[in-house]
Amino acid sequence: MTVTDQTSRPGTPAFDGGFLVSSSPATGEEVGRVPVSDADGVRDAVEKARPAAAWWAALGYAGRRTRLLQWRATITQRLDEITDLMHRENGKPTDDAMLELLITVHHIDWAAKKAAKVLGPRRVASGMLASNIAATLEYAPLGVVGVIGPWNYPVFTPMGSIAYALAAGNAVVFKPSEYTPLVGKWLVDTFAEVVPEHPVLTGVYGGGETGAALTSAGVDKIAFTGSTATAKKIMAAAAATLTPVLIECGGKDPLVVDADADLDAAADAAVWGGLSNGGQTCIGTERVYVHEAVYEPFLAKLTKAAESITPGEAVDAHYGPATMPSQLDVIRRHVDDALARGGKAVVGGSESVSGPFVEPVILTDVPEDAAAVQEETFGPTLTVSKVKDMDEAVERANGTPYGLGAAVFSKRRGVELARRIRSGMTSVNSVLSFAGVASLPFGGVGDSGFGRIHGEDGLREFTRPKAIARQRFGLPMAIYSFTRTDKTNALLVRTMKSLYGRRR
Ligand code: NAD
Repeated sequence: MTVTDQTSRPGTPAFDGGFLVSSSPATGEEVGRVPVSDADGVRDAVEKARPAAAWWAALGYAGRRTRLLQWRATITQRLDEITDLMHRENGKPTDDAMLELLITVHHIDWAAKKAAKVLGPRRVASGMLASNIAATLEYAPLGVVGVIGPWNYPVFTPMGSIAYALAAGNAVVFKPSEYTPLVGKWLVDTFAEVVPEHPVLTGVYGGGETGAALTSAGVDKIAFTGSTATAKKIMAAAAATLTPVLIECGGKDPLVVDADADLDAAADAAVWGGLSNGGQTCIGTERVYVHEAVYEPFLAKLTKAAESITPGEAVDAHYGPATMPSQLDVIRRHVDDALARGGKAVVGGSESVSGPFVEPVILTDVPEDAAAVQEETFGPTLTVSKVKDMDEAVERANGTPYGLGAAVFSKRRGVELARRIRSGMTSVNSVLSFAGVASLPFGGVGDSGFGRIHGEDGLREFTRPKAIARQRFGLPMAIYSFTRTDKTNALLVRTMKSLYGRRR
């Protein structure tokens, strides 16, 4: 088979003789190739993962913790190797890759160390009506979890599911994005070095068909991270087998600046939140709403900061190329439409979206119903809008179908405003900071998805609660029995009225 696909756009994955060929989005140079997994291969991987899951679960929390901490150490020790590969395959600067790895190993560490306490058996109160019952709650692994990942944070993002699913006692079959299969394979290979006995973490490689095959291969849960459009296809396919799904999709995150905000900090955060990683961040800032009292000084600071940011191929550039070349069309459409509808480009413009690198674009006066305000752009662009007060800021922040992350800059009202924003996570006086707090759950509402990775909720996401009610002694009267008497019924009615009959 010859190479199929549009190799004219650097970084577009190609399929060649049963191999997925991965290339640099900056130069188009081949980075490496992996064999494509077809539907039989995916089913085989899931079948082999089943006994591996049983073995891994039987290792117990302590045994799994030891292996996961070894993996965390292996990744850390080979930091240069993986950051170099991420730079070549995804295009991001090596320092950004390092930052991604730092929060990733922090999450592996947290999940490995907390799983026993969060998921292990614990006694819960049995209540007045069941005082003869010892009630125990524990969280059992699901079995084999299928993880389908995107390319923008090719280590951090899938690891939010992989590390937590493994710590909870599951085996994982991982389908990395076709744009970053080699980074995915590196993770699978390093895990096999510390867990050589069984295929507890397996990689399957390919495009959407491989992901679709994994969805219907009999896994016990699918953890998907990617676009809302793909999520809908996955949910439809998973419905056929009642396979549960965790859905982590895109966002259109707002950043809100109050009149009393530290404007230097807010401008610095907006630039980082909007432009870092070339804007290819699910929780990246895409919209900024600024109180009219500070709009002009804020915009001046933001513009100055954004003008100093430049993308490039160098390992120390501010950010790299568009990893997925087809996204350039989306970014260009959003910018052109915003300008055609009366928006102004105060930094960059249509010409900034040449590819493979996109220069920063800051837009003002864009109508609220424009694509640049409503749809995920996933590029280094920001829309900035003036609002008369924070009520208007919150209303407009909540005015898209998405609800993933958000940021609020305010000295007095930060937490109050954070609560009012419809999102899974909101940072106050910082941006993206929740992603590095391992104990906080991460996930969205609306078109951003449902279910949670990270934190205690992220561990429980990959388990089923198991409730055990053990009778410690028999009661003098039968209740849950056909031998229950009228006298007992009368006693139960009196008890019910005395316990629950009062209005307060
Ligand atoms: P995508 O939806 O195109 O692809 C994601 C994965 O799904 C890939 O591995 C792909 O091969 C696979 N896939 C495609 N079709 C499939 C099908 N029919 N069945 C099963 N799998 C299929 O998304 P992408 O472009 O790789 O990623 C970017 C998106 O991911 C953005 O929207 C971004 O916001 C989102 N994202 C979300 C989070 C989060 O945690 N919420 C994190 C990172 C990225």
